[in-house]
Amino acid sequence: MSRLNPALLPVALALAACSSMHSGKSPEAPSPAFSARPFGITKEGKPATLWTLRAGSIEVDVTNHGATLVAVRMPDRAGAVEDVILGFDDVSGYESSANQYFGCTTGRVCNRIANGTFDLDGYTYRLAKNNGAHHLHGGATRSLDKVMWEFVSAGSADGAVAITLRHQSPDGEEGYPGNLDVSVTYKLQPSGELRMDYRATTDRRTPVNLTNHAYFNLGGAGAATILDHELQVEADAYTPAGETLIPTGAIATVADTPLDFRTPAVIGERIAQLGDLGYDHNFVLRSPLGLRRAATLRHPGNLRWLQVWTTEPGLQFYSGNFLFGQQGKGGKTYAHRSGLCLETQHFPDSVNQPNFPSTIVDPGKPYASTTVYVFGTER
Ligand code: BGC
Repeated sequence: MSRLNPALLPVALALAACSSMHSGKSPEAPSPAFSARPFGITKEGKPATLWTLRAGSIEVDVTNHGATLVAVRMPDRAGAVEDVILGFDDVSGYESSANQYFGCTTGRVCNRIANGTFDLDGYTYRLAKNNGAHHLHGGATRSLDKVMWEFVSAGSADGAVAITLRHQSPDGEEGYPGNLDVSVTYKLQPSGELRMDYRATTDRRTPVNLTNHAYFNLGGAGAATILDHELQVEADAYTPAGETLIPTGAIATVADTPLDFRTPAVIGERIAQLGDLGYDHNFVLRSPLGLRRAATLRHPGNLRWLQVWTTEPGLQFYSGNFLFGQQGKGGKTYAHRSGLCLETQHFPDSVNQPNFPSTIVDPGKPYASTTVYVFGTER
């Protein structure tokens, strides 16, 4: 018998609560909307858990390590089910150097902060420089993707199933000011919508910019490339950046550039014009208010599609340029550009860019952000 995983205890209670939905179980009864299993032990000796949410024809796996989206299994036009998210079979993969932020909740501040420093309320804050001269994705050792999140609750109602995870990040963690209490709720609807609601409160002004860093391949994780996918982005402009990907502060039109995805375009068509770095750009989404569609991704062969909706002003499209052939789930290999990220967020380095929308969260004004991935298949 493996050692008792305390994180499974609340799951057992949640399962008991869910089970009323499936009274009179027969062999044909639908599989439970929610289940949990051990996902390995971290280097610090903490047990990780993998939760599975099921609704409609979609199944989603989430772990408490980094509040990470581990898998999304969905059918194609012929009904063939594939996992369309890159990741690892257990927590040791997520703790390894092969993990390039696969599926995690990224923060406290995702993307780059120039020279790992910013000024706020009369203080200069110095952060880890974990990307050349710059700070990337919240730091080196205690960023949100690397810590174990607490299980808060799970449940299902009206066919939807949800789980909430939380992390209390102490004042000074990774150099950021303020005690930050951050949570994410993953909610899967039978319609194929996976909604992520992010909330955070602080006791001191501090920058917060959260995103999910899932790598998608609608041909199935491990398929050779994403260059054959079609992408549409609801953006007329982007934030030009220098060689080390720090924005210049300008907002430029996408017209007449390889970043023009205003109508659907095949990703591989113009990527060579961008050199080795490929796509790694922040798009300025149209109409800055409310939850609206940011991007649509489509696999022209199997007709799976993904829509990304968000309340955020920006979207970083990253074409998996640094994937290097690491081994992922089920022994599959993740080749260069075999996964892409559509990271909804405030613009990179906002904390040093006075003309970008602010990422500063106030004690009296909690952080709230919503992103929805909608998965579907053309029939
Ligand atoms: C960034 C890339 C970076 C990658 C790391 C993306 O969000 O835009 O530049 O290499 O994350 O996995």
